[in-house]
Amino acid sequence: MPHRYAVIGNPIAHSQSPVIHAAFAEQCGEVIDYGRILGDRHDFAADVQRFFAQGGLGLNVTLPFKEQAWALVDERSERAEVAGAVNTLIVLPDGRLRGDNTDGIGLVRDLADNHGFTFAGARVLLLGAGGAARGVLVPLLGSGLRELVIANRTAERAHTLAVLGSGSSTVPVAACGFEGLIGERFDLVINATSAGLSGAVPPIPADLLAPGGWTYDMLYGAEPTAFCRWGQAHGAARSLDGLGMLVEQAAESFRLWRGVRPRTAEVIAMLRAAD
Ligand code: NDP
Repeated sequence: MPHRYAVIGNPIAHSQSPVIHAAFAEQCGEVIDYGRILGDRHDFAADVQRFFAQGGLGLNVTLPFKEQAWALVDERSERAEVAGAVNTLIVLPDGRLRGDNTDGIGLVRDLADNHGFTFAGARVLLLGAGGAARGVLVPLLGSGLRELVIANRTAERAHTLAVLGSGSSTVPVAACGFEGLIGERFDLVINATSAGLSGAVPPIPADLLAPGGWTYDMLYGAEPTAFCRWGQAHGAARSLDGLGMLVEQAAESFRLWRGVRPRTAEVIAMLRAAD
């Protein structure tokens, strides 16, 4: 019997996770069965319990259940603890559930390993203070960057996130509204807002990038995202979207479950070609 894994979300039909994990399994010579589960918005816990009771070994969790998964597990990694959200469920040998969050390490690895961004000494701006921004906080602060600034439309939420980040790291973390960015320069600007879902870009100053600065949009799609286009138009040395982050977070989940870390470049290339 192949070892069973799945991704649970609602909606779920669009999820690329089964394709990604099938490619990882083939590459690593592992036999797994990775499916999709349309989660019940009113009884997520029952879906999870059923999956594991039937012998499932691990679940990826996507919208809108990441916070519920955080509350459900018996123990959490530190990065999941601070994220307030869990995207990977692992069943422990004693049957208890462990929750992890691999989004942030996915972001850092995509930038550093796949594209060669040097975090050491970098001044980094994180746009947004919702679930995506909070989810990447711990790995980002552990990346070697010099200073993190969090800017959000609702400045108060950026401040709350900065306090959370400061509590988990010695790296300086500042926060502001978008108007507080005037005159500031960054080596890397990461867009973790959902503005791009409606084709918009947060109202940020045109001269935000330091010479050689990069932009990274957590959003991805067949066409360049609005924020990628903003980067290209405002002198970014590199302007990346979040497809690599999606594949890297999956690779970290696969490693947690299977103990092997798959190569990601060929899987990213496969998904790009399919767009
Ligand atoms: P949330 O709804 O939790 O947060 C939305 C954030 O965007 C808030 O900070 C909000 O500001 C801000 N925002 C929304 N609209 C605008 C706008 N028009 N101008 C400026 N700011 C705006 O969403 P998530 O954090 O869950 O998701 C954010 C993005 O990250 C999504 O596009 C999602 O697809 C992407 N993502 C990508 C992943 C990947 O693997 N590549 C993983 C996870 C997420 P305010 O607080 O003021 O409302």
